[in-house]
Amino acid sequence: MKPHSILDTQYSIHNTHNAIRKAIPVFIVISLLGAGLCGCQNKRLYKDTRIMMGTFVEVTSSQQEASQIVFAEIARIENLLSKYKEESEISQLNKLGVINASPETFFVIKKAKEFWQASEGAFDISVGALTELWKIAIKDGILPAQEKIAQALKLTGSDKIILQEEKNMVKFGVSGMKLDLGAIAKGYAVDSAVEKLKKAGINNCLINAGGDIYCLGEKFNEPWNIAVQDPRKKGFLAFLELKDKAIATSGDYEQYFVKGSRRYAHIIDPKTGYPAGSGVASVTVISKDCLTADALATAIFVLGKEKAGIITKRFPDVDFKIALEKEIVLR
Ligand code: AMP
Ligand code: MG
Repeated sequence: MKPHSILDTQYSIHNTHNAIRKAIPVFIVISLLGAGLCGCQNKRLYKDTRIMMGTFVEVTSSQQEASQIVFAEIARIENLLSKYKEESEISQLNKLGVINASPETFFVIKKAKEFWQASEGAFDISVGALTELWKIAIKDGILPAQEKIAQALKLTGSDKIILQEEKNMVKFGVSGMKLDLGAIAKGYAVDSAVEKLKKAGINNCLINAGGDIYCLGEKFNEPWNIAVQDPRKKGFLAFLELKDKAIATSGDYEQYFVKGSRRYAHIIDPKTGYPAGSGVASVTVISKDCLTADALATAIFVLGKEKAGIITKRFPDVDFKIALEKEIVLR
């Protein structure tokens, strides 16, 4: 991986969860097109990539200093929210069952509870016990025992996350609960990085944190071009031109295993304790901020096409595209 390569040709962004976790070739989920299409030789974009938050974080900007600002901020947020970092606030909470959180961690947990309510329980960061079970299942290709799922379900439910604003206290209502911010933390980290960029006077930047994307400003007076990959075959579902917008995709093609006729992926339906089986292959959400895009993509993936109206009614400004397992339907 080269630090700072100057782009002068068309290129693609790879969604790389799988590359890291499974070390096998992956689908390209989202492509960025047109880096070299501006038609002017002295227009240069700097691209830099780091592995962070379990994925590749790619930063593209005409301003060379953008990437360092983004990486520093994402590292800071990862240290607060990652359950894989032993010292993070989330790890401490999962260990002790109670913490006085930083304002940022408290904010993200509070937002997550709001999405839980708005999605009628489909989005639920308290799925930690379940995601631990299914992570092993996906690695080994073996279904978890029914009793273990039943036990983990007792530890699930965001109504059991108690928040007290005064001291930013977060407390579990049931001991042994575990939070997993995997469906929202990257979106928040991207938003925080965008804030830092703006403060530093950076006016154009594309951040791609493993499919959680923000398009800041324009690329040489034109919007950024994002192509959404078909989740099942080569090719694209949609081409989008975005400026000052976030986009996030949730899909079942990165981490999964197939047993019988069913695909078991990493997004869990908190009502059943099993991977969501809503018939959706991928959901892409476009929103003003990446936290919302990230959370709602996961929520709609669980809800499925029929119940996606729950989200559209509550978030009328948000746009989304759903690729179904059997047919590609775009909204
Ligand atoms: P995403 O790729 O943004 O859809 O996030 C998927 C990740 O979020 C999973 O790997 C889990 O860590 C976590 N997760 C799984 N199911 C849910 C759910 N129903 N609600 C919230 N987070 C979930
Ligand atoms: Mg998400």
